[in-house]
Amino acid sequence: MKGNLIIISSPSGGGKGTLIKEVLRTVPDVAYSISFTTRQMRDGEVNGKDYFFISRAEFERLVEKGEFLEYAKVHGNFYGTTIEQIKHETELGRDIILEIDVQGAASVRAKVPEAVSIFILPPSFEVLQNRLVNRATEKKADLKLRLQNSIVEVRRNKEFEYIVVNDNLARATSDLQSIILAERLKWIRQIETVRVILDSFDTSKIDNIGV
Ligand code: ADP
Ligand code: 5GP
Repeated sequence: MKGNLIIISSPSGGGKGTLIKEVLRTVPDVAYSISFTTRQMRDGEVNGKDYFFISRAEFERLVEKGEFLEYAKVHGNFYGTTIEQIKHETELGRDIILEIDVQGAASVRAKVPEAVSIFILPPSFEVLQNRLVNRATEKKADLKLRLQNSIVEVRRNKEFEYIVVNDNLARATSDLQSIILAERLKWIRQIETVRVILDSFDTSKIDNIGV
């Protein structure tokens, strides 16, 4: 059975990275789509683990070669999701998480309507601002741009199937785990299992049950 494609979006600082890390640690058979980006690497980030960090020219070459399922310009940099990683993981039966922005989420939904989409909502603008300031990964101008963009991004929440409010980390993690696990139990995802079981429910067996 093929794995699910799970889109997770939020404004910058909404908690995607933190929550996804917890899910990858605790839920079996979940993979992470490593995006390509033209953004500068932050302290502590690892090329090939957090992102594939590439130049603008290399990014354009990948676009021309048709390697991306989607790509977008976000907060002034380019980010893209490759088709290859998704195919590889889902064909192995693993779910794959796409940590992408609201534009990318809309592009993926248009191409893959069965994708599961989840929006992580911070409890308030003030909490988001505090978390981003405390994360201390952006310079002042970039921080302002990300907060400014958050206002437009949160308004697009209704394009998503699920909302996870990231107030308490343990509860938000458990919400995300529940969504991923419940999606696996949908009838459409279990047709093959159901078929095998139902094959054993054969009327010809009734005469031989010995009661
Ligand atoms: P994103 O990946 O969406 O940009 P992060 O996962 O980096 O967001 O989270 C932004 C900051 O907020 C990080 O410093 C993280 O440790 C912190 N954070 C995330 N979720 C919570 C939470 N529920 N409570 C307190 N701090 C949180
Ligand atoms: P950051 O620079 O904080 O890592 O990410 C900035 C934004 O880019 C986040 O909203 C993140 O989800 C988004 N992003 C990361 N990878 C991709 C991608 O492959 N495609 C799209 N469309 N957005 C991405």
